Amino acid sequence: MFYCQRESYSRELETEVISCSATSRQLDTAGRKAKVDGFEVTFKETVFFPEGGGQNADKGLVGGVEVLDVYRRGTVAVHFLAGELQPGSVVRQSLDWNRRFDNMQQHSGQHLVSAVLEREYNINTTAWWMAESSENKVGLSYIELDKPVPPETLSLVEERCNSAIQDAIPVSVKLFQIGDPELDAAHTRGLPADHAGPVRLIQMGEIDSNLCCGTHVSNLSHLQAIKLLFTEKMALKSI
Ligand SMILES: [Zn+2]
Repeated sequence: MFYCQRESYSRELETEVISCSATSRQLDTAGRKAKVDGFEVTFKETVFFPEGGGQNADKGLVGGVEVLDVYRRGTVAVHFLAGELQPGSVVRQSLDWNRRFDNMQQHSGQHLVSAVLEREYNINTTAWWMAESSENKVGLSYIELDKPVPPETLSLVEERCNSAIQDAIPVSVKLFQIGDPELDAAHTRGLPADHAGPVRLIQMGEIDSNLCCGTHVSNLSHLQAIKLLFTEKMALKSI
């Protein structure tokens, strides 16, 4: 469990550099993949969310050095930095908070929209992803569904979500050990085989409870509003 998952609203953290090694990585720069030279750094704790569960990796600075990417290697969060840091040194991590808070709103928003679609219309979410801010689409997410949504349903779902936001329903995170009788089989269905440690159950009042590794808002009022823009038919992927 990372610090950023325990403290989703924390923007800064002082922590120790554990390791640092020179490497290169393929990164999306201005919409194109390019190989970038940098350093892989691990810390004792991290305020940066490593990509996962549909949520994009955080960005920010560590001791003035830019964090270009964050990803998981097993249970370790690996940070890809533009510059070198000294193992053993104590540094200050600072999050690009506007970007992260937007990611939190998108992610909790997706849970809410998916829950309403599933519970009230039997339309299931098969995947979701958030647009990267470099595409100039901050605050935009895509939800993939198992059946079409009629336009009139779309506006009813939007209304239902916005009324839950106005009701300021609290969002809580509970930790469970796998095998806990309180966790039913449906909850643990999608867990990766190599999952280690406790699982996190994200609870939105009576509306939803879902296993998730992401950072979430603490109250639905923090979403401010949800606008469902359009639906489009997907091309079937060939396997
Ligand atoms: Zn999630």
